[in-house]
Amino acid sequence: MKDIKQNIESLRAALRIHNHNYYVLDAPTITDYEFDEQLKTLQALEAKYPEFYDANSPTQRVGGAITKNFETIVHTYRMYSLDNSYSKEDLLDWEKRIKKLVDGNVAYTCELKYDGASISLTYENGKLVRAVTRGDGVQGDDVTANIKTIKSVPLQLTGNYPDKFDIRGEIILPFEGFNAMNAERLANGEEPYRNPRNTASGSLKLQDSAEVAKRPLECLLYNVTGTDLGIETQYESLEKARSWGFKVPEVATLAISIDEVLEFVTYWDVKRHNLPYETDGVVVKVNSLQQQEELGYTSKAPRWAMAYKFKAEQVATVLKTITYQVGRTGAITPVANLEPVELAGTTVKRASIHNADQIAKLDIREDDTVFVEKGGEIIPKIVGVDLSVRPLDSTPTRYATKCPECNTPLVRTEGDAKHYCPNANGCAPQIIGRIQHYISRKAMDIEGLGGETVALLVREGLISNYADLYTLTKERVMPLERMAEKSADNLVKGIKASVNIPFERVLYAIGIRYVGETVAKKLAKHYKSIDAIINATQEELEQVNEIGVKIAESVVQFFALEENKTTVKRLEDFGVQLSMTEEELEGQTELLKGNSIVVTGVFELVSRTALKKLIEDNGGKVSSSISSKTSFIVAGDKMGPSKKEKAEKLGITLLSEKAFLDKIGYQI
Ligand code: AMP
Ligand code: ZN
Repeated sequence: MKDIKQNIESLRAALRIHNHNYYVLDAPTITDYEFDEQLKTLQALEAKYPEFYDANSPTQRVGGAITKNFETIVHTYRMYSLDNSYSKEDLLDWEKRIKKLVDGNVAYTCELKYDGASISLTYENGKLVRAVTRGDGVQGDDVTANIKTIKSVPLQLTGNYPDKFDIRGEIILPFEGFNAMNAERLANGEEPYRNPRNTASGSLKLQDSAEVAKRPLECLLYNVTGTDLGIETQYESLEKARSWGFKVPEVATLAISIDEVLEFVTYWDVKRHNLPYETDGVVVKVNSLQQQEELGYTSKAPRWAMAYKFKAEQVATVLKTITYQVGRTGAITPVANLEPVELAGTTVKRASIHNADQIAKLDIREDDTVFVEKGGEIIPKIVGVDLSVRPLDSTPTRYATKCPECNTPLVRTEGDAKHYCPNANGCAPQIIGRIQHYISRKAMDIEGLGGETVALLVREGLISNYADLYTLTKERVMPLERMAEKSADNLVKGIKASVNIPFERVLYAIGIRYVGETVAKKLAKHYKSIDAIINATQEELEQVNEIGVKIAESVVQFFALEENKTTVKRLEDFGVQLSMTEEELEGQTELLKGNSIVVTGVFELVSRTALKKLIEDNGGKVSSSISSKTSFIVAGDKMGPSKKEKAEKLGITLLSEKAFLDKIGYQI
């Protein structure tokens, strides 16, 4: 037994080092394959010997924990904002103010302002114990489960670290990873994400940490906070943080005068375009922590730091035409086609305009000279019109009234920012988009068939809905452009194999508006078959846990269309899973119906994931935070004191692991 423990420990230690080499230092010493093999070995050992569970093991990075409600946490040290400056004069003025308040020379640390979502990490005895978003600066959300999946966040520190401290940084999504995510979305017929920053910050609040684990996020650190840390300068704190295993960008530079600060700013204003991630400025900090303390804080920002914002690059060019694009859901997006122009290192030909309101607000017209800016967005946007050169015969833009693809009159419901083409079953991009969604990875995951081929199949008249996919034969697809015998074979095989995809994913795949993965899972579990869902009334649907009016309405509307019902019926005839199988139904009860249950601590008999699954299988709801709505708590070993206190205060029952398993009649 001792040997096994040692084996597990040394695998963990080795994987930590490889992780650090790869994700923090960008200098791996083993192949990805070797890494995966070692990780698998560790996973297998941990599964076999759950008594050696460690929440900070490298295996925990794959995620899996679901957070329904993010617990609010008060920051031990407030997270301040930064004052902004926009010119070198502003920086010189700032220096003057500082010099009046402190004695002696002032040196500065210059860093880049990383553009993502701020995060505060708490470490105790070298272990990550908590990760909290900035929130309003005073309190934020506990997003620990999600942050743990980010490989550049060390779960276990190395070297000579303090017992307890907070470290702040920015969760970012480098361009490369962001572009790869978007390429996959486009291939799946999904809307691309707008910009890395919003995608990074949105990721922190995803409920499924396994989803976060798939995103190539990084954490760049810039501030160490705590008491008695034995650190004297900002620059030293960065170096130390690096030595404990954190990713601290090497661009951070010590400047011994404001002139050197200005040099740093000038240099990066140009070089920023070569960075692998986004930055919108520089952050200058007084280096001496002693001087920082003397300077203190205003009500919103430290006096010892200043952000310098780079100017977003802007150019003027002529807008030739406004055209309209139709998405999978029928949503219309206007696009500005521009006279090609150079901007921040790329040639820009198109700019996005969000909707009709945006056109009206800026009074954008064809033949106008417009100002185009590249902010965080990958596609640049129009920020204004040069009215002084507007042609005399110019007339206001009349927004499209008909679908550019199928000529159907567009509709816009109140409260919707966008116009829609209502011709869902007769409008090519919508038909193609729905089939692309159907075959996508999270839906039917059909191998051997890509988004482009779907478009081709539709345009060639071979299919017009997803049920038609099952009528395809090798002979029928072979004549298609660029289709070889082998690929035709794979395509047909891939489609055939999809009849084994479980019901809950089929329900997601058929593309009912507002029925995402999670909702599909809920509906599948509750109704167990498509027929039961088709027969459910709006009122009944609304009674299902977490199904709101909007979703219920959309489900009813979907099946009110005879065409949709027929297509789904055809899927069934082709053997697609439209109900839960015996196997899936096994172990499903309603024993915990209406219960909201919190799981906390360390367990011995079954894993935490298994416990959560048991709760859901028995009709209960897993919640991550204790509130007056909590029915009871399944408390393992080492339940946190603050949780314990909260439970006592609210008078909520604690059940041991054993007592809970008995309650649902689960035999080990
Ligand atoms: P603002 O949101 O404009 O008030 O700017 C403050 C935010 O800048 C902080 O909350 C940080 O998340 C972020 N930031 C990015 N890079 C740095 C850095 N190097 N030092 C300090 N803050 C930074
Ligand atoms: Zn249309």
